[in-house]
Amino acid sequence: MIIARADCSVTETMENDSRVLLFFIDGLGIGTRGPHNPFDGLSDAAPLAIFQNETPQVPFAGIVVPTDACLGVEGRPQSASGQTTILTGVNAPEIIGAHKQGFPNPALLDIIREHSIFLQLKNKGIESITFANTYTRKFFERRPRWISATTAAVEAAGLRFNVVEDLLAGHAVYHDFTNAMLLERGESAPLRTPEEAGSVLASIVSSHRFTLYEYFITDKIGHAQDYGEAQRVLPMLARFIRTLLQNLDLSITTVLLTSDHGNIEDLSVRNHTLNPVPTIVWGRDCHLLAQRIRNLADITPTILAVLTKGLS
Ligand SMILES: [Zn+2]
Repeated sequence: MIIARADCSVTETMENDSRVLLFFIDGLGIGTRGPHNPFDGLSDAAPLAIFQNETPQVPFAGIVVPTDACLGVEGRPQSASGQTTILTGVNAPEIIGAHKQGFPNPALLDIIREHSIFLQLKNKGIESITFANTYTRKFFERRPRWISATTAAVEAAGLRFNVVEDLLAGHAVYHDFTNAMLLERGESAPLRTPEEAGSVLASIVSSHRFTLYEYFITDKIGHAQDYGEAQRVLPMLARFIRTLLQNLDLSITTVLLTSDHGNIEDLSVRNHTLNPVPTIVWGRDCHLLAQRIRNLADITPTILAVLTKGLS
């Protein structure tokens, strides 16, 4: 049930206690089996080991929706335009007429500033929203010329960024989730096991209506065609996700895991792939939700529906 305010904005009632986690993984597609695919032969990579023409066994009753990342535009899907699409619900490659790699250009930034999922949720009266990743002091001291789609989406809604102090207090997670890369950057933080990090992220998700978490090491490994690193990192990522799911109340929480394009599932090529990406949905309303998702532009509207109107 929803209530229309006098100013025509819509807010949710106390009856809607749903929570959503959008778990974004850069460069994860649904590939074929073979020596080019690091998931093939990894026995402990569930739920991420998903192959074409196979019905995957997804822990915690997750549903896999093969999702189109090409969005009707020729060429290989790329990060800036794909992430913009995921984070806004706007088919960005269609609007700019191309897939844009790396960081958003001014045209994509305009789309994000107007349609950021964080902004759309705020406009619906949902204020308990967070980007769970951690920013280091370096980012604020010397702001990079190019910022990621996620950073722009957070800024569009005027949200504060989590910093290392938030991570130490258990309110944020680093993008490698173990903190090893944070230590390499000269910050001091305890190393976390994938299980510890999964519990921390679960507690963040439990105390917000909407949480975004971004993981992009998969895309870097794909471009480097580093099979050994893929075999080391992917089981850890899977452990992180399994503990996260174990610690969530899936009767009130919906988890959507998705990607902007394929990459790591085919290490025989340095480029992104044309493969569909797996959107994996868990928890509340996951069957209804799965029916709504065809391509990357469907993610934001689906999340909005879960958190405002409900799906039934
Ligand atoms: Zn890439």
